Amino acid sequence: MVRGGPRGGMGGRDAAAARDEIAKAPKVPDLGRRIAHLFRPHRARLAVTITLVLITAALTVVPPLLTQRAFDDGLFPRTGHPDLPVLTAIVGAIVVVWAISQALGVWQTYLTATVGNSVTAALRVRLFSRLQDMELGFFTRTRTGVIQSRLANDVGGVSNVLSNTVSSVVGNTVTVLAAFVAMVLLSWQLTIIALLLLPLLVVVQRRVGQRRARIATKTQESLSELSAITQEALSVSGILLAKAFTRQGSETSRYAAESERQLRLQIRQEMTGQGFFAILQVFLLVVPALVYLVSGMLLANGAPITAGTIVAFTTVQSRLTFPLLGLLRVALDLQTSTALFARIFEYLDLKPAIRDAPDAIDVPAGNRVGLVEFDHVSFAYPPAPGEREPVRILDDVSFTVAPGRFTALVGPSGAGKTTIGYLLPRLYDVTGGGVRFAGVDVRRLKQSSLLSRIGIVSQETYLFHATIRDNLRYAKDDATDEQIEAAARGANIHETIARFPDGYDTVVGERGYRLSGGEKQRVAIARVLLKNPPVVLLDEATSALDSVSERIVQEALDAASSGRTTLAIAHRLSTVLGADEILVIDGGRIVERGTHSDLVRLGGLYAELAAEQGVEPVDPVEPVDPALDAAPA
Ligand code: ADP
Repeated sequence: MVRGGPRGGMGGRDAAAARDEIAKAPKVPDLGRRIAHLFRPHRARLAVTITLVLITAALTVVPPLLTQRAFDDGLFPRTGHPDLPVLTAIVGAIVVVWAISQALGVWQTYLTATVGNSVTAALRVRLFSRLQDMELGFFTRTRTGVIQSRLANDVGGVSNVLSNTVSSVVGNTVTVLAAFVAMVLLSWQLTIIALLLLPLLVVVQRRVGQRRARIATKTQESLSELSAITQEALSVSGILLAKAFTRQGSETSRYAAESERQLRLQIRQEMTGQGFFAILQVFLLVVPALVYLVSGMLLANGAPITAGTIVAFTTVQSRLTFPLLGLLRVALDLQTSTALFARIFEYLDLKPAIRDAPDAIDVPAGNRVGLVEFDHVSFAYPPAPGEREPVRILDDVSFTVAPGRFTALVGPSGAGKTTIGYLLPRLYDVTGGGVRFAGVDVRRLKQSSLLSRIGIVSQETYLFHATIRDNLRYAKDDATDEQIEAAARGANIHETIARFPDGYDTVVGERGYRLSGGEKQRVAIARVLLKNPPVVLLDEATSALDSVSERIVQEALDAASSGRTTLAIAHRLSTVLGADEILVIDGGRIVERGTHSDLVRLGGLYAELAAEQGVEPVDPVEPVDPALDAAPA
């Protein structure tokens, strides 16, 4: 029943709208607190991580101090002779300290990787589940590719930062802090020289960070667009459309153009700030030379600086350079990932327009369960973004389908028949009046309870890329093979399936393209028979078929409607001649109602349609109700 289908060859307008929708960097209040909240389940692991960090930090201070002692007490002691026993002991200690510190580092990496990936996995599932709850209208307004991109690229981006960067933040922080402590312990004067550049680093990092975050938002937006194009163009329907209109070339150019934009953005993102970093790096690399110079000046002034101190200091200082740059880069990545988090939270904050009322009830049991009532219903589709006036589609529609009865909706295309069908399972909510199911307004019923009692067969059948058996079982998880076969027989499809080499284990292919239209319809009908709901909704289920398929599908439909309340939307009047009541819809209103012969006699719109389609008037005494004729399912 889902409208839309292929939308290849998108105009620029749609693309621009999608871009507008996501380009605005979303403002999410309380972002920091909410990100922190995601880590709450991992508090214990984080506490262990921090403890490990502190231990490793403490350990990292030791080797430089040992290096100083190795020079001053082992290699060049005051006695003038190298003291080998002391040197051996010091070197042994250095080995042990580094070994322990690296082992702890592995543990730490494991913990941060676990936390980072668990957080993103949970986020991905939350996002998916939130999208599952969104109303149908959301999906008609939003491009599938854009939605997929949020799940894949945004969550993926955050995942990268969390798992790779968190461990490098921790590791680098440890090294930088330890190095700083060691430097101060070695010589505070030299430390000041080494840190002169720090304020400059911080300033540069902030500016570069903001630039990169802005580019990151654009990059994600371009990724969404790429994935939307892929999704539209590389689907079976998209390919069919492109081939039919020989548009493969233009589809490729559309993709190439967006890919080019993505390429430029990626390069810009990676290059932003690289110049600054290169200059800074030069400064950092020449610091050791500066240290020699300053040490010389201090020595000349009688300061007590030893060769060991200078060697240890420059060793530490050079070990400081790369982690420090790494940290600055991480800070940038974090800014980027904050932008991604904001995009993700924006989606998580979507409120489904159609939700269960807090006091929603199950469909009450009893003999009214198949009763369907439309009570002065009016309806307008919610306006699309950018549109102001909602368009009124239905006006004052009232009718009742008694349990087990068959009501047909007929009328010109665009009259509002499908829309009436949407309102019963609450795919959209009425804007005026009410729809009642089993005597209760559908807005007071639990959606799951309501939907479990309605079977839907639409013109466009959706099958999963799975076996026929699995596609059928979608209606009923615990269906036995016997039940599946019985449903298939009821839907006139068992013989066909049995002829496939793999029978019920035949994989139907993407969206069921390996089955003909009529076969797909019958699989869909079998699915409804298996679900066995008290009410079925048939939306022009045979209109796309040739007359032979139509007859076979019609028999299956008769089985589906037999003994069930049926609301059938029909294009071909021949399929609804026996309806208990036919409602003729035109311009969103019921303009005529009655049985086939009543309406033919009335000589109005219906009679006109019947004449157009060459439908014979039915002899009024002949019982033609398929709900009464057809064998029970
Ligand atoms: P029918 O089934 O009788 O052919 P529909 O109920 O599908 O008619 O459509 C009735 C009107 O509602 C049409 O004018 C159509 O353009 C409009 N319409 C259908 N779906 C939507 C939608 N999701 N958003 C806005 N308008 C829609």
